[in-house]
Amino acid sequence: MKHQFTQVKNLTAILVFLVLCLWPEFSLFAQAEVIAMQPAKVNSEKWTLVIHGGAGGPVKGTMTAEAEKEYLNKLDEALQVGSGILSKGGGSLDAVEAVVRFMEDCPLFNAGVGAVLDEEGRAALDAAIMDGKTGMAGAVAGVTCIKNPITAARCVMERSNHVLLIGTGAEKFAKANGLELVEPAYFITPVRLKSWEKWKSTIRPAPDKAPELPTKPDSDNDKHGTVGAVALDQQGNLAAATSTGGMTGKMVGRVGDSPIIGAGTYASNQTCAVSATGHGEYFIRNVVAYDLAAMMKYRGISLEEAGKAIIMDKLVTQQANGGLIAVDRDGNLCMPFNTNAMFRGYVTSNGQHEVAIY
Ligand code: ASP
Repeated sequence: MKHQFTQVKNLTAILVFLVLCLWPEFSLFAQAEVIAMQPAKVNSEKWTLVIHGGAGGPVKGTMTAEAEKEYLNKLDEALQVGSGILSKGGGSLDAVEAVVRFMEDCPLFNAGVGAVLDEEGRAALDAAIMDGKTGMAGAVAGVTCIKNPITAARCVMERSNHVLLIGTGAEKFAKANGLELVEPAYFITPVRLKSWEKWKSTIRPAPDKAPELPTKPDSDNDKHGTVGAVALDQQGNLAAATSTGGMTGKMVGRVGDSPIIGAGTYASNQTCAVSATGHGEYFIRNVVAYDLAAMMKYRGISLEEAGKAIIMDKLVTQQANGGLIAVDRDGNLCMPFNTNAMFRGYVTSNGQHEVAIY
């Protein structure tokens, strides 16, 4: 009897020991889960999509009416691609990827085919995507033969343990994952070649000196920039995507803000989704996209106030040119820019719809 009692006592002690050991593990897992999955604000049937096709010139009145119309039509078509997904209950991540892919395939924009050319006359592309629900992100930089860099960015996010892959490593990864590869010449359009030749003719570097980066936002070279999309879906999830060829005459190896998470691209279900366009070096130094989210989170200010504070105050003080598009978890949107123009548009579930340049 005494023996049996000792056995029960030992068994109880072992059980208590195991529970004490494992309990912290369980609670740790539970905590990790909470950190990883940002709760969606349920917005049944409410969705918003905002896009941009770059900030910079032209001054109003310098573009032909036909050219303006062409841009506005393409922006409209891009919005239709995204609204087709979001209105049917599709995810914001699918919507922003599809919209940016569409714009990458359009030679009018500085992303994918039609990208601007670097100092050696080649297209080197950057792209990033971020999922506001999970906090996961993926990006590629300096790629020269991936047809749709935004899909490669999503692939990095979903099929690798990394966030950012560059150059040949990114291209090898894209090939291994069955993405479409093209010849580098595919990206070069006559319009971009002409801009590059013009840039080249104005740059006379000393033999041992690197060429200067174009800094004036209103030069021909900066007219049509980067593309981006941000969206809120019916499940209340936010996502952001950005894709670019960077800036005409950029140094070989230069990476801008677009593929840098927190600088040109950011999304969190707790606050907002952001895609930026403009002089990338300033957007990196000011961590623009995350700064907007942080202002909302820590200062409790609105999306619009935060966007304005960064683009119209902070960047203007530094003579940094550009703009951004953003949408918050309630579907509010903003599109501030401090340049002459920003190709942009939005569409919402309650029928609001606009495309604009100036
Ligand atoms: N932000 C891009 C970069 O610096 C350029 C642009 O948006 O036009 O690479």
